[in-house]
Amino acid sequence: MATVKLHVKKNDMVKIIAGKEKGKTGKVLRVFPAKGRVVVENLNVIKRHTRPSQKNQEGGIIEKEAAISVSNVMLVCGSCNEATRTGVRVLEDGSKARYCKKCNAIVDK
Ligand SMILES: [Zn+2]
Repeated sequence: MATVKLHVKKNDMVKIIAGKEKGKTGKVLRVFPAKGRVVVENLNVIKRHTRPSQKNQEGGIIEKEAAISVSNVMLVCGSCNEATRTGVRVLEDGSKARYCKKCNAIVDK
């Protein structure tokens, strides 16, 4: 199975560019490359009603972030603080790093 290369990674700050939470920013908690989806901290929170279980004796409502499509988020650059597209640059040591297309700063430390 081909793995889709996502433009964001875990711990990136991203901005939501579509949907009901458009304009909000948050930190990427998980990525699902095969599905092209990401989970962003405190965004797209859904309420899930649960029955009492051994883990959760009370049951009730659990709030949990639902994955959103990676095409609905943009990386927020740590240097210029703007939602931006990234390119990939080969560094002097041969490793690859993403850079901000707005301010040219390297995004990957
Ligand atoms: Zn930038």
